[in-house]
Amino acid sequence: MGNLRILVQKFGGTSVSTSERRAQVAEKIIGAKEEGYSPVVVVSAIGRTGDPYATDTFLHLVKGIYPDVPKRELDIVMSCGEVISGVVMVSTLIGLGHDAVLLNGAQAGIITNDSFGDARIVRIEPKNILAHLSEGRIVVVTGFQGATEDGEVTTLGRGGSDTTASALGVALNAEAIDIYTDVEGIMTADPRIVDDAKTLDVVTYNEIVQMAHQGAKVIHPRAVEIAMQKNIPLRVKSTFSDAPGTLVTNQLDSEYIEMGTDITGDRLITGIAHTPHVTQLRVGTVNEQNVPEVDLKIFKAMALADISVDFITVLPTAVVYTVKDDVSDKAVKILKNMGFEVETRPGCAKISVIGGGIAGVPGVMAQILEALTGQGVQVLQSADSHATIWVLVAKEDMIKAVRALHESFRLGR
Ligand code: ADP
Ligand code: MG
Repeated sequence: MGNLRILVQKFGGTSVSTSERRAQVAEKIIGAKEEGYSPVVVVSAIGRTGDPYATDTFLHLVKGIYPDVPKRELDIVMSCGEVISGVVMVSTLIGLGHDAVLLNGAQAGIITNDSFGDARIVRIEPKNILAHLSEGRIVVVTGFQGATEDGEVTTLGRGGSDTTASALGVALNAEAIDIYTDVEGIMTADPRIVDDAKTLDVVTYNEIVQMAHQGAKVIHPRAVEIAMQKNIPLRVKSTFSDAPGTLVTNQLDSEYIEMGTDITGDRLITGIAHTPHVTQLRVGTVNEQNVPEVDLKIFKAMALADISVDFITVLPTAVVYTVKDDVSDKAVKILKNMGFEVETRPGCAKISVIGGGIAGVPGVMAQILEALTGQGVQVLQSADSHATIWVLVAKEDMIKAVRALHESFRLGR
């Protein structure tokens, strides 16, 4: 890698959706090049559901012919959106007088396992990318895809292009990984829900892993975890402005600490995230002889069925936990077959209050409850860890709850 200063720049679906926007994307790439960086550009497919070159459009086409298209073939068709987008981006750059080349997942050396539709990157062989970079070319890489050792095309699942960008950043030892999107950075809450949500300047990997896991879809949690392993700075920025965006870093060796600005000290709460479509299950264990063993049996059965569980509360007479709405029927069926009484409460939402400074600070839970009850929001269940407090509410209360908490902790502008 020698003296190359590699910068990974990832552009999401909305950033590449029109030719005007792609011109703005090209400006960011060329700007980086002119600053002396070797840009490695990761692109998502063009547009969203309904758009002609969106991945959903291709899925709709093939599933309309035969609903159970094999997973292997589905991955081949799902990889096309990024290929089209990549050629469009390379053409844009060449049209502007810059040398650029497109590499698909396999050509970029992105080797994955064979879990079609949700493959994991196992390693990256960057020699192709490096060869092009050292000849001064801008390298565009298709996001969201890779290939197995045997050359089978795979896709990486939701948020896959973020993961591609991070993995390339680590493999190439990039100076930074820039995630360009349609908002100015990582904000204190989803700006679609909270009008005065504020862009965060500097945050730690850990805080953002939490926020992303809890529903802040601005960046995929796996992408943050990968960047964190090698401490590569991750920046989330807007394609459509010159705002500095959010820097995600490791607070321990952050230059910001040396500069004397404590990045979490005056900030108890970093942000509020939300996840809708959750079902609460209450499994009665009152008639059981050996309750601990029964509890274990319940969670083993869920694990065996690949159902992820959350919000687990084990009581002497019941086990209460949540699953995603779309697997609740499956979970209930398993439990009933095991002979349990099950009560379900579908249509819940999980609200997460995230802050590296929460641990052991008295009064945070009280403030949460006060803010929610003040708005007439009932808390159905709660849990906490060192950096997050979760509450479960009815989905009708979700927006109200996010806004009330955002307001109560004065996170707004
Ligand atoms: P891209 O296509 O660029 O990957 P995404 O739609 O995946 O973009 O992510 C950007 C969107 O994430 C924003 O438009 C915003 O509505 C949403 N979002 C949710 N939570 C947050 C948050 N805490 N900060 C910023 N954006 C958020
Ligand atoms: Mg995204």
